[in-house]
Amino acid sequence: MLAAYAVDVKQSRGRRYPEPPHPYRDDFQRDRDRIIHARAFRRLENKTQVFTRRYSDHFRNRLTHTIEVAQISRTIAEVLDLNANLVEALALVHDMGHPPFGHSGEKTLDLEMRKYGEFFDHNLHGLRIVETFEERYANHPGLNLTFEVREGIIKHSRDYSAEDHPELAEYLLDQRPPLEAQLIDLTDEIAYNTADLDDGFEAHLLSLADIRKEVEIFERNFRAVEKKYPTASDKLKFNEALKAMLNALVTDLIENTRARVEHSGVRNLEDLRNFPERLAAFSPTVDAERAQAKKFLYRCLYYSEQLKGQKADGEKIVGDLFGHWMNDPESLPPAYRRQIESGQETPARVVCDYIAGMTDNFILEQHQRLVQKAVSQ
Ligand code: MG
Repeated sequence: MLAAYAVDVKQSRGRRYPEPPHPYRDDFQRDRDRIIHARAFRRLENKTQVFTRRYSDHFRNRLTHTIEVAQISRTIAEVLDLNANLVEALALVHDMGHPPFGHSGEKTLDLEMRKYGEFFDHNLHGLRIVETFEERYANHPGLNLTFEVREGIIKHSRDYSAEDHPELAEYLLDQRPPLEAQLIDLTDEIAYNTADLDDGFEAHLLSLADIRKEVEIFERNFRAVEKKYPTASDKLKFNEALKAMLNALVTDLIENTRARVEHSGVRNLEDLRNFPERLAAFSPTVDAERAQAKKFLYRCLYYSEQLKGQKADGEKIVGDLFGHWMNDPESLPPAYRRQIESGQETPARVVCDYIAGMTDNFILEQHQRLVQKAVSQ
């Protein structure tokens, strides 16, 4: 049974190119499966989440992060009687537009594009991937996903103004996305805040003492674990506390979202879309703790001395290659050269699309072949 404000697949606005129904999978289940079978989904395995040079095979990459977001999102969707198939599709696709080298790659691509009066945004790039770059069907370009999945790709984490983005007019930019999409930004954060504490601790970049001192929601749960398992090792206490922290964040998100929906007077999806603000949210207290954990990770992990080198390397590689192909578009693969020649896209956009699709391994190879070799000759 779906809540009255959930997205009912029977009410979907449908696909760009109409298709006959499948005998045993509904349209959101099919979208989820199309995403799993996409090339861009498989490439997530070799894209940085936090650690560019993988410290250890135990750490997250963008694919395992994505699977964790899908797990958390699906649990919440089922408890709130939302459309779990739509939520799962949105979780699985949410990072598909990320370039190599995580945020260093994204920042550098955006900086390079701004030199040409353009920009790079991973949500909009994700939409281009599913609409155009995935070539699997004889009948249409892209994956031909339903409206609701495409809308969720661009609207799950921020609002785009209709004035700045006339090309997105079809996505109801003056309305909120459904709860199924609103959830994703928050489950994404639950997943990476807890996972990055885990990997940061395992990598010896974060100490238990610092985490306990600076992350209250962790400390609260750690004290409870110490009472229950006084003789367990620090590592096991850490794991138990982190698990409890994740559970506390999920529980708060479920309960607070449910309460907000009840108090809002929203009775159906139309009301929810027209409500002045997003209703999926943590409670103010837990939201402050979430923000505190995130701030700690920024200061002590993402911007730490130890990770500076790998971030600088990522920025240099992306910047070097962008410059290389802008100066010498002839060395692009033929399909990309044809796009420039046809005038469909600007040279900068074509180079940006090519780089954004790369895995960490592939871009490193390209850099060695085209830039480092040229320097050493
Ligand atoms: Mg993510």
